[in-house]
Amino acid sequence: MKRVSFSVRARLALWHAGVLALIVCAFSAAIFLFVRANLYDELDQRLNRELATVQQIYRREPGELQDVEQQLGISLFQVTERGGILYRTQAWPRAGITPTLSEADTQTPRSLVSADRQRYRFQTVFAPTYRITVALEERAVQDTLRTLTIILIAGIPCTIALAVVGGYFLARRVLIPVGAMAEKMQKITAESLVESLPVDNPRDEFGRLASVFNEMLARLHGAFEQLRRFTADVSHELRTPLTAMRSVGEVALQQPLDRAAYRDVIGSMLEETDRLTRLIENLLMLTRAETGRFTSKRETVDLNALVVSVVEKLRVLAEEKEQNLQFKCGAFFSIQCDPAVLQQAVINLLHNAIKYTPNKGTIQLRIRSVAANEVAIEIEDTGLGIPVSDRERIFERFYRVDSGRSRDTGGVGLGLAIGRWAAEANGGRIELDSEEHRGSIFRIILPTTS
Ligand code: ADP
Repeated sequence: MKRVSFSVRARLALWHAGVLALIVCAFSAAIFLFVRANLYDELDQRLNRELATVQQIYRREPGELQDVEQQLGISLFQVTERGGILYRTQAWPRAGITPTLSEADTQTPRSLVSADRQRYRFQTVFAPTYRITVALEERAVQDTLRTLTIILIAGIPCTIALAVVGGYFLARRVLIPVGAMAEKMQKITAESLVESLPVDNPRDEFGRLASVFNEMLARLHGAFEQLRRFTADVSHELRTPLTAMRSVGEVALQQPLDRAAYRDVIGSMLEETDRLTRLIENLLMLTRAETGRFTSKRETVDLNALVVSVVEKLRVLAEEKEQNLQFKCGAFFSIQCDPAVLQQAVINLLHNAIKYTPNKGTIQLRIRSVAANEVAIEIEDTGLGIPVSDRERIFERFYRVDSGRSRDTGGVGLGLAIGRWAAEANGGRIELDSEEHRGSIFRIILPTTS
């Protein structure tokens, strides 16, 4: 079965009208019952008063009962004594009031429909020797209730119709910002993500929605920008070694060379291939990490042993530059982490320290406790240092302080990005203290209990 779908505006108006109809019906019923109870209350009070008067006069002087009818205007009552009628008003037989009640019911006034189809309210008092019944016409009460019913029944549809129309216009007014937002959203494309939705009142629901949407747009814009930069950077980085290989090959093909020269050409081509392989491996590692496809293998790791193994791996590079590479083994630190990932981070930081520290400089590695539950691996160098303006962005992919600085040394700007990810993947963080032209300290801080 096909479901009829209404617009939000129509649904709001219908809900509004429905709820209002229920309220109006309940309210009308309450008014009707209240007025009815009040009218009957008044009627019963009058009935009581008239009954008391008739009873009083009967007890004092039964012969004066006629005066009650004529002078006091009590026109509907009947007094019976020992089963026989003592007095009955002239209107009584005409009204045809014949109550059949048990004695227990007499205390409360009751209604009955007489033979001439009129409604009467009556009350009877029983005494051992006499019985007095007084009645009152209910016509006035019935007329008032009928008028009230007509007013209420006519009023309810009018109120509902007004509620539907009013609700529809109100909903239209309230939903104007949604229309404006939808129109604006339609115009937003990947190229115009900087545009934002208008926020009239940031504290109301639509304002909050627009603000949240704008924040999402800003995040998307950032992500798109990053993607664009990333694509441009990757293309650039891939092109450089390929161009180098191509030109080395072309030069070699231009003239016949001896065996040693060919070996040189193949050697430099292999160097470029190495560079390409490293770049692709690093990119793969970062991409896996960012897409959450990397699962770290946590185990208990002896930090001193891990740092010693990195130092031994890279010592030859430092020796080539006659640098003083020191690692002071302090206390024994063992933590829970992924050793391969952490080792990669330390390799990258130490490799950078060696790359960016001039010949005969000093590089120191330390492991020390920095807080109750934290241990830091520090790599300090006496190198170029990093300008303040670059410190924030240095951990971004492909960011280089000065491309000339690291191009010569084969860097593509991924080492620190991997270092930061590796620290975070092990529950830690990376920090940097640096002074330009004096040196830098990179610090990997890791939790000792995890
Ligand atoms: P790269 O492969 O270019 O070294 P990194 O991500 O490792 O890329 O480093 C980013 C940039 O940070 C480098 O280009 C370099 O300019 C700077 N840098 C990194 N480590 C150091 C350091 N120890 N001293 C000075 N500059 C550094």
